[in-house]
Amino acid sequence: MQQFDVIVIGAGAAGLMCAAQAGQGGLRVALLDHSEKLAEKIRISGGGRCNFTNVKVSEDNFISENPRFARAALARYTPANFIALVKQYNIPFHEKHKGQLFCDRKSDDIIDMLAAECNAGKVKWFRPHSVNAVEHDGSQFRLSTTAGVLQARNVVVASGGLPVPKIGATDFGLKLAKQFGHTLVDQRPALVPLTFDSGMWEPFVGLAGVALPVYSRGSDSNAPWFDEDLLFTHRGLSGPAVLQASTYWNPGKPITLNLSGRETDATALQTDLLQATLGAKANAENWFAAQVPHWPKRLVQAWLNKPELQSLAGRKVAELGKKQLGPLAQRIAAWQLVPSGTEGYKKAEVMRGGVNTSDLQPKTLESRKIPGLYFIGEVVDVTGWLGGYNFQWAWASGYTAAHAILDQK
Ligand SMILES: Cc1cc2nc3c(=O)[nH]c(=O)nc-3n(C[C@H](O)[C@H](O)[C@H](O)COP(=O)(O)OP(=O)(O)OC[C@H]3O[C@@H](n4cnc5c(N)ncnc54)[C@H](O)[C@@H]3O)c2cc1C
Repeated sequence: MQQFDVIVIGAGAAGLMCAAQAGQGGLRVALLDHSEKLAEKIRISGGGRCNFTNVKVSEDNFISENPRFARAALARYTPANFIALVKQYNIPFHEKHKGQLFCDRKSDDIIDMLAAECNAGKVKWFRPHSVNAVEHDGSQFRLSTTAGVLQARNVVVASGGLPVPKIGATDFGLKLAKQFGHTLVDQRPALVPLTFDSGMWEPFVGLAGVALPVYSRGSDSNAPWFDEDLLFTHRGLSGPAVLQASTYWNPGKPITLNLSGRETDATALQTDLLQATLGAKANAENWFAAQVPHWPKRLVQAWLNKPELQSLAGRKVAELGKKQLGPLAQRIAAWQLVPSGTEGYKKAEVMRGGVNTSDLQPKTLESRKIPGLYFIGEVVDVTGWLGGYNFQWAWASGYTAAHAILDQK
């Protein structure tokens, strides 16, 4: 049997940060992961360049049953802290847009940095190894693993969420939480492309590959508007606009897209369109195309073929009134459509839901039920927007748990 102060389960973003900090603070740390390759999710993130944080992060960029839960950890370890670490390792990076920071080279820079941080903390690696059982005798945890029995006073669960099972995602953390009496918030894929019934999507299949800037909104009553790019696919919609909306989408409900290119609603747009008819000489089709200059031609054509807009066909602009422009404005500024589903955990970037935050201490990430048991990263019901927020939560929660354990020393 091997004795440690802390056993961290999962050597992904949160687990690496936690193990490194605990080790550098002088604790005997075991870091266990069942995957052959280290931190594959970091490697594939951000298109291979890891959008490792965002310059501006607050709890408002996250969704959780308890929207304030993430605040304490996010304040304890901020984007500036992680940026300082990245600079210390001379990793070149750049800001893409909306404060998103990416590696100039590859995500491996971040993985190598975190592995070096673990080594600096004399973390003992158990890789690839898995856990068969976890027991707690009231003061110590005993883990039966493929590397033998490991024992420690503290266990940190950093086994991540359910997305991308083919690179090692499992429900280990969720099951362990249940074993120790924790409740779970229902999980579902988030930051995920949305799909539509094939009959409903048939008129749009030809638009696959078309992209344009839009405003998007999911179906939750508190869903924010996102100002991002939309991408049509063969099976539905994707692109940052839809990934963001998907996190706030509930099955059976519509998402809303504003394709006007500006912040407006259908009523205001109808007024603007009516105004734009005054003195216009073109036929209605050409006039319409001029109202949406940022739309690719294929999209304009597809819109004109919609049954409710066919009344535009062959008309002169001067003949257009509220009857024609109302539906047109609606379809541009407040296009509502009900997805039939998502592309699932195979394609999702994160999981919504997870270990209920009501059973965790926000300032430490420790279980309120079992002292010495911690949950960090994506397994917790804290889901970030697209844009580096999920990694910042992983770093912040990992750091917070490590220092909470150190504080008890
Ligand atoms: C394609 C893609 C792109 C992304 N891009 C970004 C991005 O650019 N920016 C951003 O902020 N977020 C991004 N994310 C989200 C981000 O990767 C995750 O939110 C983050 O990795 C979560 O960190 P974690 O440590 O909780 O989990 P993970 O990083 O997933 O680590 C969990 C670890 O636990 C291990 N594990 C799982 N089950 C077991 C088990 N039973 N036994 C032992 N080990 C186990 C896994 O092998 C893994 O190493 C992306 C996600 C995907 C899928």
